[in-house]
Amino acid sequence: MLDVLLTEEEREIKYKVRKAIKAIPPSMLRKMDREEIQYPTEFIENMAKQSLLGIRFPADLGGSNLNWVAESAVIEEVGALGPALGCLYSLPSIVGEAIHHFGTSEQKEKYLKPILRGKLYCAEALTEPRGGSDFFGATCMAEKQGDMFLLNGQKRFVVGAEGADIFLVYAKTNPKASDPRKSISTFIMEKGLGVETKHVYGLMGSRGGGTGRLLFKDVEVPEENLIGDLNQGGEIFNQMMIPERMTSAAGAIGAARAGLQVAGKYSTRRKAFGRPIRKFQAVSFKISESLTLLDAASGLLFSASCTIDKNNGLTNGLVRRLVSESKKFATDSAWEVINHAMQILGGIGYTNVYPIERLLRDIRLLSIWTGTNEIMSLLIQHEYFNELNSIDPSFEPRDVEKDAIGAEYSDEKVYE
Ligand SMILES: Cc1cc2nc3c(=O)[nH]c(=O)nc-3n(C[C@H](O)[C@H](O)[C@H](O)COP(=O)(O)OP(=O)(O)OC[C@H]3O[C@@H](n4cnc5c(N)ncnc54)[C@H](O)[C@@H]3O)c2cc1C
Repeated sequence: MLDVLLTEEEREIKYKVRKAIKAIPPSMLRKMDREEIQYPTEFIENMAKQSLLGIRFPADLGGSNLNWVAESAVIEEVGALGPALGCLYSLPSIVGEAIHHFGTSEQKEKYLKPILRGKLYCAEALTEPRGGSDFFGATCMAEKQGDMFLLNGQKRFVVGAEGADIFLVYAKTNPKASDPRKSISTFIMEKGLGVETKHVYGLMGSRGGGTGRLLFKDVEVPEENLIGDLNQGGEIFNQMMIPERMTSAAGAIGAARAGLQVAGKYSTRRKAFGRPIRKFQAVSFKISESLTLLDAASGLLFSASCTIDKNNGLTNGLVRRLVSESKKFATDSAWEVINHAMQILGGIGYTNVYPIERLLRDIRLLSIWTGTNEIMSLLIQHEYFNELNSIDPSFEPRDVEKDAIGAEYSDEKVYE
């Protein structure tokens, strides 16, 4: 995010995070990509020690009292490490959002504070083997029995499944509800309660984040671990999707910018036909195109961040549209940029001598997770039509339909 858009305090935290990210040893990233590390707890501990987790939460909960602009700027920096570490860094913000907005003071004390201090590792479990896009079609069940809920079902693709101590889980509590958005509740499940985790698949990229499956067989969850009210999961989900998608967008920009830097430097050193390859327009225009995409993505992210900040962090139609646009545009752009970077490096870009092949594998995930980009398109147009139908006539912009030469031919305006 451009420094010129940031306040001094925001710039300071951005550079503090940049310094912390630069200090992460390359060996850790290599081991993660080789799947020799499944869950790098030392990374979270380290960031927590420097008070760099959940920076937008209030200071009394362990945050830094900052805003969304600061968090986006910071996660662009973390993005240079790739999505696995970017996601582990973001999970306290994502899970924390649900606890902060909907949790009781006891839940904040017991879970949010230790999460932000790096003492408790958290993960979020929404997706099921049956599907992720149709979130409200969940089949994971939570049945009330006395002062407990009995959870049964499965979740998959849970980042941190292998290392987290607690899981934020969505499950059906009112399967017969006529409105599916009022059929789900949100729980904190401690791993120790009997949650079974399984590492079942190899990932194309984004490795080392402990992605796995969760199995619940009659797991007893105390009722005090219900977040918010019974059947309020839909509302909590909508709120949690702000950090879920904003952190994806910011991380994508950071990862692609890091790859672009490798390609930019390479293009000034690598020669062909006696000249540095950056002297060929076909190469330098790829750099121009990439930078434009990333600056546009970052600008959109900044607009979304400001809008969330002005809305006191709460979700509404405009926030949902801008967050979805940011996620979609940033992740699609990152994919394009990293493809350009690979092309600029030629054959060596396809090898593991440079990190572009890993970044390409990593970044491919971003248009799939945290809601696919098709789902983002669904949300964007949905909110746009809502806005279109509710414009206050006194603020309506010029109606250019009337400017057409043939505007008077009303007989020709046939709609059915
Ligand atoms: C490495 C990795 C990490 C992940 N981390 C987590 C995590 O930590 N926690 C978690 O809960 N989930 C996580 N996910 C899950 C991820 O969010 C889902 O994969 C994603 O939401 C898509 O769900 P799905 O895979 O079930 O695809 P599906 O929902 O089956 O969709 C398949 C295809 O159909 C399209 N589609 C579906 N419905 C529509 C529609 N109405 N209109 C247009 N197109 C549609 C989708 O866009 C997609 O292209 C992770 C996934 C991966 C791969």
